[in-house]
Amino acid sequence: MAVLSTSPYRVLSKRTCSSFRKNSLSSFHPKGSYLFTLFNMKHYSNYSSDEFNSSKRRSRGPVMAAKKAAEGGKQEDGKYKHTVDLPKTTFGMRANSLVREPELHKIWDDNEVFKRVVDKNSGGNFILHDGPPYANGDLHMGHALNKILKDMINRYKSLDETTRKDLTPIKLRAKAAKFAKGTVKTQMESFKRYGVWADWDNPYLTLDPEYEAAQIEVFGQMAIQGYIYRGRKPVHWSPSSRTALAEAELEYPEGHVSRSIYAIFRLVTAPPVLGGILNEYLPNLCLAIWTTTPWTIPANAAVAVNAKLQYAIVEVQTLSEDASLSAGSKKRQLRNVLKEKKKPFLIVALDLVPTLEAKWSVKLVVRKTLSGSDIENCRYIHPISNKECPVVVGGDYITTESGTGLVHTAPGHGQEDYVTGLKYGLPILSPVDDDGKFTEEAGQFNGLDVLADGNVAVVKYLDENLSLIMEEPYAHKYPYDWRTKKPTIFRATEQWFASVEGFRQSAMDAIGHVKWIPAQAENRISAMTSSRSDWCISRQRTWGVPIPVFYHVQTKEPLMNEETIDHIKSIIAQKGSDAWWYMKVEDLLPGKYRDKASEYVKGTDTMDVWFDSGSSWAAVLGRRNGLSFPADLYVEGTDQHRGWFQSSLLTSIATKGQAPYSSVITHGFVLDEKGLKMSKSLGNVVDPQSVIVGGKNQKEAPGYGADVLRLWVSSVDYTGDVMIGPQVLRQMSDIYRKLRGTLRYLLGNLHDWHADNAVPYHDLPMIDRHALFQLENVVTSIRESYENYQFFKIFQVIQRFVIVDLSNFYFDVAKDRLYVGGTTSSTRRSCQTVLEAHLLSIVRVIAPILPHLAEDVWQNLPFKYTKEDGSIAEFVFESSWPASNKTRLSFPAEEVDFWEKILELRTEVNKVLEVARTGKLIGSSLEAKVYLHTSDARLASRLREMCEANNDADTLHRIFITSQAEILPSMENELTGNVPHTGECLIQGKTKVWIGVSRAEGGKCERCWNFSLQVGSFSEHPTLCSRCYNAVSVQHFPAVAMAT
Ligand SMILES: [Zn+2]
Repeated sequence: MAVLSTSPYRVLSKRTCSSFRKNSLSSFHPKGSYLFTLFNMKHYSNYSSDEFNSSKRRSRGPVMAAKKAAEGGKQEDGKYKHTVDLPKTTFGMRANSLVREPELHKIWDDNEVFKRVVDKNSGGNFILHDGPPYANGDLHMGHALNKILKDMINRYKSLDETTRKDLTPIKLRAKAAKFAKGTVKTQMESFKRYGVWADWDNPYLTLDPEYEAAQIEVFGQMAIQGYIYRGRKPVHWSPSSRTALAEAELEYPEGHVSRSIYAIFRLVTAPPVLGGILNEYLPNLCLAIWTTTPWTIPANAAVAVNAKLQYAIVEVQTLSEDASLSAGSKKRQLRNVLKEKKKPFLIVALDLVPTLEAKWSVKLVVRKTLSGSDIENCRYIHPISNKECPVVVGGDYITTESGTGLVHTAPGHGQEDYVTGLKYGLPILSPVDDDGKFTEEAGQFNGLDVLADGNVAVVKYLDENLSLIMEEPYAHKYPYDWRTKKPTIFRATEQWFASVEGFRQSAMDAIGHVKWIPAQAENRISAMTSSRSDWCISRQRTWGVPIPVFYHVQTKEPLMNEETIDHIKSIIAQKGSDAWWYMKVEDLLPGKYRDKASEYVKGTDTMDVWFDSGSSWAAVLGRRNGLSFPADLYVEGTDQHRGWFQSSLLTSIATKGQAPYSSVITHGFVLDEKGLKMSKSLGNVVDPQSVIVGGKNQKEAPGYGADVLRLWVSSVDYTGDVMIGPQVLRQMSDIYRKLRGTLRYLLGNLHDWHADNAVPYHDLPMIDRHALFQLENVVTSIRESYENYQFFKIFQVIQRFVIVDLSNFYFDVAKDRLYVGGTTSSTRRSCQTVLEAHLLSIVRVIAPILPHLAEDVWQNLPFKYTKEDGSIAEFVFESSWPASNKTRLSFPAEEVDFWEKILELRTEVNKVLEVARTGKLIGSSLEAKVYLHTSDARLASRLREMCEANNDADTLHRIFITSQAEILPSMENELTGNVPHTGECLIQGKTKVWIGVSRAEGGKCERCWNFSLQVGSFSEHPTLCSRCYNAVSVQHFPAVAMAT
């Protein structure tokens, strides 16, 4: 959408037409990317450039007259200056947001406006349950996007009484630990500065005893239903923070390189079913495997093959040095086994033979082929422990995309390996401790760090023992601990799990009943939920909510049942979870176990933080006054499909059999304006705080205020990634100014307004009814977009409305009526009736997006706004959404069509006027008379009616802002011969209209600058036209009149 800088406020702004900056034109792309274009505007813009170029200079007459009057000019028109109604308002032209926004916050705070709005809620609730922002420091643009989106929804709902929904305060969600409380406070201050409204004095914190008890209850219900179990399974383990981690606590940074190796395991026996076909190779036949984690070789328990793949027994032949080089292979160090004279036969996937030849710089001669199922149950010697291990059939995860097609299987160190291990009853070896060091079980490697010297030692050992073919660096995605930013490992430990399998189907069914915005989010969460493995919920941390379990000292059997959980829950509800650590076992156990307390110890595991936040529906929605379960809406970033959206869904399904939300909105990430990720090193980080208050260099990074930031949030299609940068912000600031100017025009021209002045609808001129019809449609369409959370559509609609319909047309034409029509004249009052409707509607529909601007306008209203119930809305959010007006919408379809034609015609007339101006025939458009001819009899007749309209506002020359307009009955030369400038156009692509422009007839009216044959005919006011004569005669200007 294009932006331009025509000011509807030329009267006061001192801007002239030259301030129309063509190069500020740019376009808005609905997907959230901004296309900037100087010359190619037509291509990208939603509107033709004609619409923008219209009405630049035509209205200078009355405007200039008024301006001179305003400046107290010494010109002769000063005589009537006191009869001209200039705009007046206390509402500033500039936002001055650095001062004004905090002032407005103070007004809201001092008057407890948020509370007043909440208290007035008489309808049902709309519950937007706010998610878990990790209390981890200052806010970035992603927080701003997220929280402002939520605030826009909340504020809209607070205005929207007709659907009987109302504001429910956002509950601020924070994480445990004292550190968090401080961070929460800082974050709150920033959110407040964005203009986000919430029940800030009463946030919910996961470290509140009430919250913790609710969480224990959710856990207990899941345990009682058998969904919680203890098992020894490989989990993501962070040696750097000595705890298990959930998927959502991992990140996969760029640039991780592993030491990958090709190793060989020597076969010792083949099963009898093979009928001895391997015998000729056997003592010297090896399985070739590939791994990116050599440190897991000590835990190897099997080699897995894919039953459906073809495998080959190959003979290895070394290439001569020359051949090796000419083969183009990079110089790779041959490992010991390949230096041996007698090289082993190898088994590899047949498809990979050429790849491996190139990689190893050897020749591989295929001696025999076998299927994967043929080699199942062959046995090999473990290269380190020398134990016999089997070849097993794994799953479809074994492919020929990389490696050798044979997979080193360590069930203690991998999820797929674990599953295969279960099938074959393989041992779950995991000779690695909490610090990521080999244990005694790993023999000579005991004490070495698996991610460092342990890995090196294993590779060295394999090479020395003729089990290594090659080692090469391998770049791939590898999971890191999101907190310590250090690599993690996969390691089998005793952990508590939630059995997702037990309620997966219910979760999948529930997903189908939730409204996902955007719709494709449903696929994403479905895929993640259907494929996820059981949820490891225990963590080895000393902070957080404890897993309420006791272990028998001797048997290590866990003790956890309804009674023990209930007892612990009631303790934690009173004392908080710290009680678990400071109270004795005998006090933590319910009465009936107390005499056996000495046989038990407390568990030391805490719950996954995702279990904390995933219980928020239970701790908040079900408990707080005015809230109910399920929530209407959750809004978070797209990463929460595997995080909060999912953990909340799982806990809620397991205990309530229902999703905790009816709708879920996901938004994308914030990128810079080139679409690049923001990073300190690229220097492209946009900080929300400096957008609001400005950066160090105010020239380069001016403070735009919270509303400009909020306007940006509304402008983007947040369902994908969104972009922001200095150029985008400048553009937003221009649009903001445009909106502000529009509202200022409305305020200024209503300075003497009172509701009693309103003109009844059926007495309004057609131009006014048309304007109200457009307004009504705009309000309806904006409402629909709010309901569908499509804020970018609101942004587009309001912008188009303000620029095209109001600034370029209605306001432009209206100035004449407003300034010189006569203070109490029906033409001015009917125009004000329209302006009042526009002001009150626009200010309320933009309020959820631009609350500061809307409140600033409201505080400068020149009248009190009385609600239907007779109360006065002192603040914009005390008003309600503009009620839909059926009368306005009943504007007849043929009239709508006719006004479309008029507007198109006006654009064409302006082109001819422009030519006449360039040809020096006229200066201002008021110096012109327009002639029209069309052979379309119906159109001609309607236009003729407009030339003679009873209603001054509807007359055609006023709409063109010329002094006269005439419809010619024919194109005979005597009619058209003296018309110096002419043009032709096709209206609606089919109706031909001829347009002519000549100088206006008669003399120039001193007061309104229109030309009229009547100027000179009124003896009392010889310099006035009849309209101005009437206006001046009717109006009383006692003091002023005498003074002049
Ligand atoms: Zn006049």
